[in-house]
Amino acid sequence: MEHYFTTPIYYVNAAPHIGTAYTTLAADTLARYWRKKLGREYVRFTTGTDENSQKTLSAAAAKGQSVEEYLSEMADEFVDCWGQLGIDYDDFIRTTEPRHESTVQRLVTQLMENGDVYLGDYEGMYCSRCETFLKESELNEAGQCPDHLIAPEKIKEKNYFFRLSKYQDWLLELLQGGFLKPEKRANELISLIKNEGLDDISISREGAEIGIAHPSDPNHKLYVWTEALMNYYTSIDRPELNHFWHGEVTHLVGKDITRFHCLIWPAMLHSLGLPLPKQVFAHGFFTINGQKMSKSLGNAVEPRALAQKYGADALRIALLSAFAFGNDGDFSEDHLAEVYRTKLAGGLGNLVNRVITLIDKYYNGDKSTLPVAPAVIHVEAFGKHMEALELYRACEVFFDLIDQTNKQLADAEPWKAPDKQAPEVLALFAGQLATLEALSDMAEVLLPEAAKRLKLMLGNAQKTGERVILFPQIEA
Ligand SMILES: [Zn+2]
Repeated sequence: MEHYFTTPIYYVNAAPHIGTAYTTLAADTLARYWRKKLGREYVRFTTGTDENSQKTLSAAAAKGQSVEEYLSEMADEFVDCWGQLGIDYDDFIRTTEPRHESTVQRLVTQLMENGDVYLGDYEGMYCSRCETFLKESELNEAGQCPDHLIAPEKIKEKNYFFRLSKYQDWLLELLQGGFLKPEKRANELISLIKNEGLDDISISREGAEIGIAHPSDPNHKLYVWTEALMNYYTSIDRPELNHFWHGEVTHLVGKDITRFHCLIWPAMLHSLGLPLPKQVFAHGFFTINGQKMSKSLGNAVEPRALAQKYGADALRIALLSAFAFGNDGDFSEDHLAEVYRTKLAGGLGNLVNRVITLIDKYYNGDKSTLPVAPAVIHVEAFGKHMEALELYRACEVFFDLIDQTNKQLADAEPWKAPDKQAPEVLALFAGQLATLEALSDMAEVLLPEAAKRLKLMLGNAQKTGERVILFPQIEA
């Protein structure tokens, strides 16, 4: 069975921050796990940029650039950041690419042919910063958008609508069946449907300056949220890749965009007669040092700066192990430094160094001296957690195994044994070596750069390899 993982496509109005890095590292980690298990050809992982926002016009103008220049410069920021973070995606999609326009126009044409799109009057309160219409009930007491604290514009125009209301009961059933995880996020949407019901949604704006044209009415540009969701399909919309849509598709999203991914998107796919994703997983938000993330705080933990200082591996495992995937939680550079010092350099680095040094010293690095060790039971738990998207738990298994193995070595004190060929000493080192092999397999998923160095130290089937430093000391 193929596995297809996606991150949301990111708004280009700001450089990647720790929140977008988190989603992307999580998707990358899952893709690495499945590639290792099934082979690269069975796994696909895409990310990209959402570029058809009306805000782009003013942002480009403010920088004295054309829209095209602005967009490619911003997309390059993301490509550069993901490169520095060791993100190994299969496709980076930009929604201004011709391939996306062509997929979107085809899908919207099909929605129209199915009778699920109609032209109607729209009157509503539009927040230009959200780029969405808000209901009266969503405004604050001053009648403003609660996120942007500006009064929305009253807009009346002809719009194309998608018949979302038609799919209300079907969506309710879908959400009750575990389409959206964690469950608390699904419950929010279930009560929204039960309490307020679903209206048809506007999917176009008349006279918008940029965006993808409505296929049969070019005066209308498709509403950014409608076409942005279709990027997931664009990426595999080629005969040789289409089978990924028929495998297990997992969308990783932030908890703020579940309405789009779990109401509009599945309803459109259902209308189109396309298979649904297996699941949408909504992760929580960060506070930084206990404070809500803001632009200045976000800059304080710029992912590229942290990766340069501690390494991309350390950033990855510190983020994924900071709190349960799906909950809100806190992140700080102190936490990253602590993980680096205690779990990586002091934990894994120290363990590998000690075990390989002793095997070299006592057995001249000859692994064939050692008996066959029993399988490492943690491997199964690690895989189970990965497959359940419990990334935090998978990191725990990895760290626990390191701690247990360090403790076992310290307790056994093999350096005090008078005979290094005694069966219990040989069995100890065989077990320790088997654990290092298991850890190096897990590290290929969690710490891809360090895993290469670890494999180098473990050598081949017969002999230990060269000595390298897994986690160098970092200047405070
Ligand atoms: Zn707003």
